[in-house]
Amino acid sequence: MLISAIQKFTMIDFPEKIACIIFTAGCNFRCGYCHNPEFVLPERIKKIKKSFIPIEAAYNFLKKRKGLLDGVVISGGEPTVLYDLPEFIEGIKKMGFLVKLDTNGNNPSMLKQLIEKKLIDYVAMDVKTSEGHYKKLVGEKVKRAYIKESINIIKTSNIPYEFRSTIIKQVHTKKILKNMAHLVSGAKKYVLQEFRPGETLDPVYGEYTGFSRKEMEDIAKDIFIPIVENVSIRSQK
Ligand code: SF4
Repeated sequence: MLISAIQKFTMIDFPEKIACIIFTAGCNFRCGYCHNPEFVLPERIKKIKKSFIPIEAAYNFLKKRKGLLDGVVISGGEPTVLYDLPEFIEGIKKMGFLVKLDTNGNNPSMLKQLIEKKLIDYVAMDVKTSEGHYKKLVGEKVKRAYIKESINIIKTSNIPYEFRSTIIKQVHTKKILKNMAHLVSGAKKYVLQEFRPGETLDPVYGEYTGFSRKEMEDIAKDIFIPIVENVSIRSQK
């Protein structure tokens, strides 16, 4: 496991639960708009690896939080690139915590394994763009078939879930947004997230802009609500 950081407390990242967040390093995508390039690019990970948290220290932290937290969010980077993720989560489950996984959906076999072994209690999968635009936005390592397979695994699982998308004015055209909605057609929950400029993996994206709350509400109403049961917006505006 490559544990880059632990956020000790959150009331917003695991729906209806009080949780902490364990961040892992490493990712198989290269989203231009990624705000955490230091946890994605191997050459940058190498520079900060010494400050990473050993598994035992993470477990010790959790032992002290028993009874205080309901759950643990495992976020990235992309947690499923780490081969020992299932074993790590097993240790967390043994302590009695609920586990939420954040994933980009590019590893359906691990996702399936985690669900079948009842190692995760909630999953949030990013839907980055429409099927046809994935490679352009996230890089060569994406397999479109994997993305679709993960969506299907999640939709047909018995665990609570959400699909979510960070949407950017200069990237997510109306046509792309419509195709994204179709990609998750029939899903129970979809969250549209505001994009905030700042440091990004590809500096070009740092100049791009997010939609206003009103624009996101219109996108939800016109494009997603007719297709998805429950649509919400995460925006600070
Ligand atoms: S999936 Fe994209 S946004 Fe998420 S950590 Fe990887 S590169 Fe960054």
